[in-house]
Amino acid sequence: MTDLTSDISLDLTADTPPMAFAQLQLSAPLARAVAEMGYETMTPIQAQAIPVVLQGRDVMGAAQTGTGKTAAFALPLMQRMLQHENASTSPARHPVRALVLLPTRELAVQVAEQVELYGKYTNLRSAVVFGGMDMKPQTLELKKGVEVLVATPGRLLDHIEAKNCVLNQVEYVVLDEADRMLDIGFLPDLQRILSYLPKQRTTLLFSATFSSEIKRLASSYLQDPVTIEVARSNAAASTVEQHFYSVEGEDKRHALHQVLKDRGLKQAFVFVNSKLGCARLARSLEHEGLKTTALHGDKSQDERLKALEAFKSGVVDLLVCTDVAARGLDIKDVPAVFNFDIPFHAEDYIHRIGRTGRAGAEGLAVTFVAKCDQRLVADIEKLLKTKIELEALEFPENLPDIRKQGHINDGRRMYQQDDSSARRDDFAPRNPRPPRSDYRRSAAHDPFFDKPYEAALPADAAPAWEAAAVRPGVRSISSNIKSKRKVAALFCAA
Ligand code: AMP
Repeated sequence: MTDLTSDISLDLTADTPPMAFAQLQLSAPLARAVAEMGYETMTPIQAQAIPVVLQGRDVMGAAQTGTGKTAAFALPLMQRMLQHENASTSPARHPVRALVLLPTRELAVQVAEQVELYGKYTNLRSAVVFGGMDMKPQTLELKKGVEVLVATPGRLLDHIEAKNCVLNQVEYVVLDEADRMLDIGFLPDLQRILSYLPKQRTTLLFSATFSSEIKRLASSYLQDPVTIEVARSNAAASTVEQHFYSVEGEDKRHALHQVLKDRGLKQAFVFVNSKLGCARLARSLEHEGLKTTALHGDKSQDERLKALEAFKSGVVDLLVCTDVAARGLDIKDVPAVFNFDIPFHAEDYIHRIGRTGRAGAEGLAVTFVAKCDQRLVADIEKLLKTKIELEALEFPENLPDIRKQGHINDGRRMYQQDDSSARRDDFAPRNPRPPRSDYRRSAAHDPFFDKPYEAALPADAAPAWEAAAVRPGVRSISSNIKSKRKVAALFCAA
């Protein structure tokens, strides 16, 4: 057991000038791959973690998604592993030397893709294994021999039990998104996996938050770790401008339109708490003239792929989503995130707003707060260790009456209105987290991508809401819905 109080704590965050990758003297194949990816300067987590990992020290890193932490661990590990690099075709010459564990398939795929890119000019082999698909292709890959294995814990155990991989030469272990792995209930699996590994190794633990459970995990498995915090732990990326507006349920859509317009935003994520709320809000916004798509857990894999692709390519402007999209999704430069519903779990706030302001870009996070949300605001304040000031939004007097269009998308309201099955299945309970086992079963398995986001709209193109049908005095409704007035006229004529 290591006493965490003896850790060295680096705090290079404040005003440290950005360091160029050239200063690292990475080996030529890695430097070439990094240059090809267009990285010039290191992100703060990279500037701090890479030199430490190159020295072979254990690391406890507080870094949220989008900070560049994959390169922060992958590059120095690969640099150290290059001493074993060989072009032999024998599997025995390519034992697993680095193991990267992640909570979800999407994150595993994303990290594996990055690892492959960084290692493309080396002879180091990498592979990814995760649950929910046939083991055979993964087995074939493992049997060929891989130096860097990216895995989710459950499926890795399946492969270990099937003797598809041997881990007795592992020198480096990365526990990525460790808080999420514990949330999902992976602790026993992690403990088993770690028990199979050589004691002499470098262990890196990354977590968005440093809860007491995470600290316990670190004290059990890390040796004299260097603690690295790129921002205050449990803090949101500093490049994200955050606003909390006091808006009651029925005015939220007005508020959304208003902020989009005032800020001239071209694209945004809009988070809601329930699947049903997500579908309905997306439909309503579409009716109001905004190009919108929905992404939630009830959508098929294909539908989710299409939704994401439509957003990435700029075919849609708004991606209305539940928390399945809060983690792992790497779309660069999403200009804004809206919390249409304030999240039930404060940690999700960090993850949601982590979709914007990625890798140093500027971002905007807007949260709508109803009167009954006070406790959830207090939870976020506690997590961020910052007092949240609620702001008022001024609406123009000639506000269109969108609230009468029949789709009120506040989760609570729907809870009252919808049938009991929707209530049971769709609306998450306000307070307690689901029991661990359920949590694990319902863990988000979503097709997240690492394909760089390219805005399809020209920079000067007018955002959809400029032309949207929510104009003063004009009701914006679907062409399929006849307005009440016309129907009444029809009756009169008859
Ligand atoms: P990560 O937090 O590792 O998921 O990285 C988030 C995104 O930032 C990924 O798309 C990376 O390709 C990108 N990225 C990582 N490091 C850098 C860097 N030094 N410069 C520019 N982009 C980077």
